Amino acid sequence: MEFNTKVLHGKSVRRPCDGATLPTISQVSAFSYETAEELEKVFTNRAPGFAYTRIGNPTVDAFEKRICELEGGLAATACSSGMAAITAALLNILQSGDEIIAGAGLFGGTIDLFGDLEAYGIKTRFVKQVNAEQIEKNITDKTKVIFGELIGNPGLDVMDASSVAALAHKNGIPLMVDATTATPYLARSIEYGADIVIHSSSKYINGSGNSVSGIIIDSGNFKWNTEKHPALAKYKKFGNLAFTARLRGDTWRNIGGCLAPMNAYLNIVGLETLGLRMQRICDNALALAKALEGIDGISVNYPGLESSPYYPLVKSQFDGDGGGIVTLRAGTKERAYRLMNSLKYALKATNIGDTKTLVIHPASTIYLHSTEEQKNNAGVYDDTIRVSVGIEGEADLIEDFVEAIKRLDKTEGEE
Ligand SMILES: *Cc1c(COP(=O)(O)O)cnc(C)c1O
Repeated sequence: MEFNTKVLHGKSVRRPCDGATLPTISQVSAFSYETAEELEKVFTNRAPGFAYTRIGNPTVDAFEKRICELEGGLAATACSSGMAAITAALLNILQSGDEIIAGAGLFGGTIDLFGDLEAYGIKTRFVKQVNAEQIEKNITDKTKVIFGELIGNPGLDVMDASSVAALAHKNGIPLMVDATTATPYLARSIEYGADIVIHSSSKYINGSGNSVSGIIIDSGNFKWNTEKHPALAKYKKFGNLAFTARLRGDTWRNIGGCLAPMNAYLNIVGLETLGLRMQRICDNALALAKALEGIDGISVNYPGLESSPYYPLVKSQFDGDGGGIVTLRAGTKERAYRLMNSLKYALKATNIGDTKTLVIHPASTIYLHSTEEQKNNAGVYDDTIRVSVGIEGEADLIEDFVEAIKRLDKTEGEE
């Protein structure tokens, strides 16, 4: 089945018995049973069913199953946000004394989280690029997870997932991939060897910027060795599903970052058009990057451009689509602000993956708490603008940016 068919008619798509064409919104906290015995069975996993929405909910379940199928995983667990998903996934396997190896150019919130984890004895070794060469140098006995983004936000470095996964597995370490910016439409990370895939589904999966959420997909492929990952010792009997068994039975349910049923529903509505939106967004992003590439005084970073060092990987991993984020450098912060302020269509907002084009100045917002080094590693400079390209008409979008850049020089000349 092609992607656009699978989102609508895949085996995980089950319709309610009343024939409704979308899942019912089970907007409840708890589920009741006829007898105390039945409730006990559900609670102890001896009968299927739902007890309490923090632990499971039919609408959330429908969302989890659909994403799980699209990613080709074995189990998926939805969370209240992308950050909740990353936090739960890491705490599920890490203990005091453990180390993470991660890309230095990751999403700012994730970098901040790694800093927070230091208080619990969990240290992160950052590599400039998440590639096998740089990771190998940082692996120690304490390395318990390798974490990277398929397409870095906003650094836009592309991870060669197969080679990183091969190295990780050779050392008995799982590869955790944040695939938010790639989405399962561009690549199914598990096919490239990712063991745990995470999305901030607030972004492209939801697609309209109407709710915050995250999801963790377990490939079911990693052979957990509970000597290396003692956090999973109690769940050893679940074999390759030990990660999800502990997550759902312990870490995730106790942290309590569950997804609200209404937001799961909104995500399912969004998911049905993910393929269409993502293709349009990628086409728009490439057209915009090409149109701006040659303009004096502006530099453009987009992995889908032939001039990008990541172009070969974009071709091999993503079938040529470079994703929906383009970054621009305007020369100075003042020029970056003026450019942003004179755009007609792009909204100034801190989000990605909306239908509408969004722009932000990362250095003064998302990276406000970061050091100069952290910002440089993420490709965030004083003059950087991040553009999350939307689904507007291509010509309108290009004209908006080209005209705004022209006005930039005009006002300079007049001054
Ligand atoms: C937005 C984002 C997150 C965090 O997700 P929230 O849903 O905002 O908590 C994590 N990783 C990436 C790549 C993101 O873009």
